[in-house]
Amino acid sequence: MSKAATIKKNNLDGYELDETRRQDLDQLIEVCRAHIDHIDEEALIRAFKLCYVSHEGMTRASGEPYYFHPLEVAKIVAREINIDDVSVVASLLHDTVEDTEVTLEDIKDLFGEQVALIIDGVTKITGVFESRDTKQAETFMKLLLSMAKDIRVVLIKFADRLHNMRTIQHLKREKRVKIASETKELYAPLAHRFGLFRIKNELEDLCFKTLDPTSYKFVARKLREKKEDRVRFIHEFMTPIENELKKLNFKFEIKGRPKHIFSIYRKMQRQQKPFEEIYDLFAIRIILEDPHTKEDCWRVYSIITDWYTPIPERFRDFISVPKANGYQSLHTTVITNKGRKVEVQIRTQRMNDIAEKGLAAHWKYKEGSKKGSETLDKFVSWVREVLDNPRPDAATDFVKDFQLNLYKDEIYVFTPTGEIRTLPTGATPIDFAFEIHSEIGERAMAAKVNGKMVPLRQKLKNGDQVDIITGNKINLNPDWIDDVATHKAKSRIRQFIKQKQRKVAEEGKELWEKRAERGKIEISDQELTKFAKRFKYESTQELFYDIGSGAFDVNELFKEVKKFKSTGRINSEDQQETSPIDEEVIQEKYRNAAREMGDGKALIINGELSNVKYNYANCCNPIPGDDVIGFISRSGSIKIHRTLCNNAQHLLKTESERIVDVSWAKNIDTQFLGAVKVIGGDRVGMINDITDVLSKSLETNMKSINVNSDSGMFEGIITVYVDGISHLNKIMKRLEKVEGVKNVLRYE
Ligand code: MN
Repeated sequence: MSKAATIKKNNLDGYELDETRRQDLDQLIEVCRAHIDHIDEEALIRAFKLCYVSHEGMTRASGEPYYFHPLEVAKIVAREINIDDVSVVASLLHDTVEDTEVTLEDIKDLFGEQVALIIDGVTKITGVFESRDTKQAETFMKLLLSMAKDIRVVLIKFADRLHNMRTIQHLKREKRVKIASETKELYAPLAHRFGLFRIKNELEDLCFKTLDPTSYKFVARKLREKKEDRVRFIHEFMTPIENELKKLNFKFEIKGRPKHIFSIYRKMQRQQKPFEEIYDLFAIRIILEDPHTKEDCWRVYSIITDWYTPIPERFRDFISVPKANGYQSLHTTVITNKGRKVEVQIRTQRMNDIAEKGLAAHWKYKEGSKKGSETLDKFVSWVREVLDNPRPDAATDFVKDFQLNLYKDEIYVFTPTGEIRTLPTGATPIDFAFEIHSEIGERAMAAKVNGKMVPLRQKLKNGDQVDIITGNKINLNPDWIDDVATHKAKSRIRQFIKQKQRKVAEEGKELWEKRAERGKIEISDQELTKFAKRFKYESTQELFYDIGSGAFDVNELFKEVKKFKSTGRINSEDQQETSPIDEEVIQEKYRNAAREMGDGKALIINGELSNVKYNYANCCNPIPGDDVIGFISRSGSIKIHRTLCNNAQHLLKTESERIVDVSWAKNIDTQFLGAVKVIGGDRVGMINDITDVLSKSLETNMKSINVNSDSGMFEGIITVYVDGISHLNKIMKRLEKVEGVKNVLRYE
């Protein structure tokens, strides 16, 4: 049967392993039996067969058949991490989908969804590890956790790396150095965080051995030379204690293994001492077997200090106050009668398991949210509970509890060069841009996410790669304030809005000052504050802002101030106001309104619809249909006049070189302000009739109407929103028909 057929057709059960492979498998099953409570041996056998068959013919750098690697990884997972048999099965198959013709579908068919998901996770995470620049171990770990829904994915990755490090000598030197540095910077600290202390220590030693073989060999040799001495010392030291403990029926184990080589070397470096002067090369560990309790630890402590003198400063009680990762133990350093210092650690079997395999790993982070730490606390107490009362389903629960999203408040995204950035959930490319640099945020024009253009306001997802496209100018949009999640972006946008408001207020102030000057009135700041209050503004600044933005008509203020100047009192708001025609006031209103109406799409300038800035001249207020001409102003914008306007005529004569050919665009969907003057005999209901004509029959919106009725005569100036000249002409024709109206003129 071909390899493919063996894999595809669920023929694995009938596949016969040869003697060597049979022995490999038996060894694995043995390790599993020793460390894991419930094993589905059938699945394990099938996984081993698939692992062997699919990698058949492939070799590693060492020349060994490839399947040695997944087999060893599976053993590490069983021995060092020992969560469950599913993780062992997944370890055996962890390289199949990436390197062989086995597909995820095959895995799903043969081993079920769970195993397939884990293998998918391992494959993806391997890609992330390899393609990204990953300087920050902690951030990276969070990324891994958030991407790998199943914690077993990460654990298998550790085992994978450990075996790769164990066999690193077969690689070329450059590759060795690269892998070892990465392991030292990333995997070892991560393993520590996970509480996988034994894996972490071994990784550190292997890195040390690869990166600084001379120093490694030196320390290792020294340790070897001292071994006999160490064994003898521990024996002498412990004999009286052991006798005491046995008398009291204690069940215990004594360990005196030296600390790992890298930590000894680090100590020599840090303390600037030769090897010989490092006194705590090893610690004696007394592990009390089940069912001993923490009270028993204290009894052992008391026995030891009966024999040897403790150094009080070196005493640590991690039983009453466990380390954040759940580590519990009593530590004491005592002096023998020969003056030798030795550290003794006392703990129960359960505490030792946590210390070595780190079920209650360090899940808490300095910057962790409250939710995160609550989850952690729950997790730790759960681990304790399980270890206190082992249940057959404990392993399944363990895995389930890990499927929580520890960091759901954060997402991790990448810069175009692969750097990781942490952002709050809900962040957009705008946040990302500000995160990179405030200038990039201010100039952001568009964003590419995973190579595709997206709106700046689109929410980012975990793992997105974000590229911000910037312009030359500041492009900050005040509306972005609702689209950002980071403090940094929010505060900068707020600052920008304030600046903008200040500028608008300054413009408003200027408008007012000009208006006051033209109307020849003077008013103190104090008095002006009163007017601001009268119009329900908190300050003159706010009033100026509304004037500047066009929300408040400067003429209204002018009218009030003028009245105040002649009457000496400020109108209160509820006093009804009449609005007699004040030519000046109306003209000003008209001007402001015309300015407001400026729009970028109404005019064809030099034959094309362009984005050149232009505005309409106040003197003639052109509307579509009018014959118009443009003049380039000194600021570079174009001022549009009606051709017949007196000012335009003058400019045509004197500065003809500034003329630009303009015409109206075909489809203008903006409305313009037009004004008409209506003259006639006054009568009751005149205004009503006029407004009726406009709103009902012509469906025209009126902006204002100002009426002067004096000795039987009626004169009104009406400003209306129009599409263009024909609309305005229609209005004028209809108004002429209103009873009593004698004359209707375009008002300029
Ligand atoms: Mn591997």
